[in-house]
Amino acid sequence: QAKRNLTMGFDTGHQIPVQAGLEIESGGSSLDAVEKGINVTENDKENTSVGIGGLPNSEGIVQLDACIMHGPGHKAGSVMGIEKIRNPISVARKVMEHTPHVQLVGKGAQEFAISQGFKEEDLLTEKSKLKWLEWKKNNQKKKPEGTIDNHDTIALLILDENGDLTGGCSTSGLAFKLPGRVGDSPIIGGGLYVDNEIGAAGATGIGENVLRHCCSFMIVEFM
Ligand code: ASP
Repeated sequence: QAKRNLTMGFDTGHQIPVQAGLEIESGGSSLDAVEKGINVTENDKENTSVGIGGLPNSEGIVQLDACIMHGPGHKAGSVMGIEKIRNPISVARKVMEHTPHVQLVGKGAQEFAISQGFKEEDLLTEKSKLKWLEWKKNNQKKKPEGTIDNHDTIALLILDENGDLTGGCSTSGLAFKLPGRVGDSPIIGGGLYVDNEIGAAGATGIGENVLRHCCSFMIVEFM
């Protein structure tokens, strides 16, 4: 069957999630395509800004953020500061589909994930641990700040054949952040916004700046 989904996505220059999104069969849902596409990057241990292998916070703990937004019904789900679960985008989808809530944070998000069958694992890879130890040695007294190589995110926006939009966003946030720091990526309207009638926007960059201007919401409103 032809794979005719219109797909737009970006992360650190990889095209893999976009291709994974495209592999959803013709007529498939943009929701599945977004989740599966983002899972590819979350599962990539070499990528140090999303999912397993993401750079940890200042205490050496990997805390992940993600959100998903589905155009039909203006539905949304989000998890923030979740630990030990490699696919936060999938947990965000479960929040959207199986709870009356939009956001779950920290321990509550982790326990919800376990109740939904997600497996806990150590997300700190040797590569990321070494980068953290190096940072600790050199920069212990410096505040975490954004540089070109210590943060990134995947945001994936897909329009399917039915004309429905879905967006997703997943990140380990700013490397060596203060424990509990949450950026824009899991915030509806900040790191992601979808309006099925209009369009979708997703963000990457220093989350504090994106949050202050509700960037994704503003972009879609301007559309
Ligand atoms: N926006 C992400 C955050 O601040 C990081 C990034 O996209 O580079 O958590």
